[in-house]
Amino acid sequence: MTINAPEGTKDLLPNEAKFWNRFKQTAFDVFGRYGYVPIETPVMEQTELFVRGIGEATDVVSKEMFTAISGENLKRLLDGGSIKSKSRLSMRPEGTAGVVRAAVQHDLVPQGAAPAKLMYAGQMFRAERPQKGRLRQFNQVGVECLGADAPTIDAEAIIMLMRFYREIGIPEGSMRLLVNSMGCDECRPAYRELVRAYMNEHADELCETCMTRAEINPLRAFDCKNPGCAAVMENAPKITDHLCDSCREHYEAVRALLDGAGVAYNQDPKLVRGLDYYTRTVFEVQVDNGMGSQNAIGGGGRYDKLAEEVGGRPTPGLGFALGFERCALALEAAGVELAPAQQCDLFVACAGADAPEVRNAAFSLVQQCRDAGFSCEMDHQGRSLKSQFKLADKLGAAKVAVLGPDELAQGKATLRDMATHDETLVALADVTAALR
Ligand code: AMP
Repeated sequence: MTINAPEGTKDLLPNEAKFWNRFKQTAFDVFGRYGYVPIETPVMEQTELFVRGIGEATDVVSKEMFTAISGENLKRLLDGGSIKSKSRLSMRPEGTAGVVRAAVQHDLVPQGAAPAKLMYAGQMFRAERPQKGRLRQFNQVGVECLGADAPTIDAEAIIMLMRFYREIGIPEGSMRLLVNSMGCDECRPAYRELVRAYMNEHADELCETCMTRAEINPLRAFDCKNPGCAAVMENAPKITDHLCDSCREHYEAVRALLDGAGVAYNQDPKLVRGLDYYTRTVFEVQVDNGMGSQNAIGGGGRYDKLAEEVGGRPTPGLGFALGFERCALALEAAGVELAPAQQCDLFVACAGADAPEVRNAAFSLVQQCRDAGFSCEMDHQGRSLKSQFKLADKLGAAKVAVLGPDELAQGKATLRDMATHDETLVALADVTAALR
């Protein structure tokens, strides 16, 4: 019996793995220009962090977390015992809670300091029902800016997110940026009550899940995919009509900065996002082509209360995360080709492959070129010269150096340019110079 990768996980095969590296690098290059520096946090955290940070009633925490349990603790549980809360671990479903935990633990935002701008890339885990663009283990790149509540932070994060998408090659016209404000502790509770009352008035038109949500977190009903619920929620009270003065001013300032930067966006008062920690600005980027219902390629927002939730001092924050796999789908839908996984500057082919002195000279030449910084390959399976050329072609070799007994006797190799088919005889010591 063969064993396949677990449902909802995906192997990144060489060309995808290479693209993931380029993706991360491009993101870090762009975000680095805005002052973001990398951080890496564990893929496991205490479950309590997510419960307190993301919110117990969210789908992510109540249904989608993978628990990590050591063999010892599993045995303890199976024997009817209990485990310490410190030992209750979960695989991270998102990156923000862990980064904020790290910032609090290591005091990365001392009072009066400039904001900490942190970026990360790595795997996230959610036990969702797998479908196209929705995995149980997926890769995200994200940023968190901690210690400033100015609208310039929100605006520059959105601007840099859109810049990244452009740089990675997602066509501008295929993306839609949605923005909203979720208000704050001052204005949101009253608004939440308005939505709850509205939902109760329309109880017979809403699904059961929405009506359960009406009790715990009515705003989640805006995310319901049921067309009947969506039609009802379309006419629900809008948060942007109920913001307090300071939230309204903040939201206006963010929009003015986006307008000034020429960033196109749509205001969407129904955009609430699934996690409890958001306050004020929220945003999401969606694409239309070939993505089905999983069309959000990135999103985030402000979370001014999260640091306190995880035991830190009041520290405003803002962040976003973007999904690698969905961006790859968006690029594929746009017809953008990924670069091949392997690059080959030179293939060294042996004419008379069975002569040990020829193979040894070829082996030395390959090492010499690699040491000089070129990607270089040779045959390791005793192929004929013809099939070595086929292999060189398959590897996309820019040049092939042919080495046979005659060339070797002169201390030279025949260097063939695979594009122009030009051939020159080059001294073995000069091959690296010829490659340059
Ligand atoms: P979220 O934390 O849900 O806002 O996710 C941020 C981004 O991560 C989304 O916009 C997606 O691009 C990506 N993402 C979220 N969940 C999944 C998933 N289950 N599978 C693949 N990508 C995901």
